[in-house]
Amino acid sequence: MSRRFTLMYIPDSGKKARRMLVSHRFLYSILAVVLLSGSLMGWVVVDYYKLQFDQQHFNQLLVENSEQRQQLKQLSRDLDGLHREMVVLSDADARMRGSIDPDNEDPANLPVAIGGAIDIRPEDMTGLQQQINSLRLAIDLRRESQEEVRDLLNDKHSLALATPTGWPTKGWLTSYFGVRPSPYTGERKMHEGLDIAANTGTLVTATADGIVVKATTESGFGKVVMIDHGYGYRTVFAHNSKILVKTGTRVKRGDKVSEVGNTGRSTGSHLHYEVRLNGVPVNPRKFL
Ligand SMILES: [Zn+2]
Repeated sequence: MSRRFTLMYIPDSGKKARRMLVSHRFLYSILAVVLLSGSLMGWVVVDYYKLQFDQQHFNQLLVENSEQRQQLKQLSRDLDGLHREMVVLSDADARMRGSIDPDNEDPANLPVAIGGAIDIRPEDMTGLQQQINSLRLAIDLRRESQEEVRDLLNDKHSLALATPTGWPTKGWLTSYFGVRPSPYTGERKMHEGLDIAANTGTLVTATADGIVVKATTESGFGKVVMIDHGYGYRTVFAHNSKILVKTGTRVKRGDKVSEVGNTGRSTGSHLHYEVRLNGVPVNPRKFL
């Protein structure tokens, strides 16, 4: 037997009350329907808000994505600019090398240096990484090249300092480099330097940086000074009246070395000036 409830409806005023018989099963069905639709509603509401949130999050990601795309594009443009600058730098470097020593090869003269405008898509992270790597390599090579250029310049600078330049004293040329009759014997003999006539006591100065390797008196040259300049260069100053340096003295171009005189085999106050390259006397006029 099934149990039943009696539902009563009693209005306020004197109207007739109503009653209704309801079975248990019917009541449970109603309850089930109410619960089910309730939870369904709840689920729909939750899902809706979740969707809203997701949408918001998605929009935010979209914005971020577009920003990052822009940044990557900018990065790619910057890299491109750096590449161009590297090309300009390597160009300048090459020209500098050429001016110092035309035969010198540029170690950085590799294809990376002429990378230039490589069009990479912003989403192509590998491409960007490759660009960065190749730039790094180019920079390393450029640094190496710059160091070499600096060494070349230093060498060139040292060579310039070691090369005899200018007049060693104030005077006038009375005898040139080459074969001439000896003032003593009349025999034709090689004159291995220049004779510069000047008053006794006139200062004689070094024509290049170097070290004094001889400061002594000899029968022929009289009071003589020899300076070694390196790079195979040596200069000789003979017939001095006075020597102002000692063997081992380091001299710079323009430093006082001696005073003009008439010592040794000489026929008047003058400076006999020689320039030797690897032991062989060369014409000093080329260096005046
Ligand atoms: Zn002479």
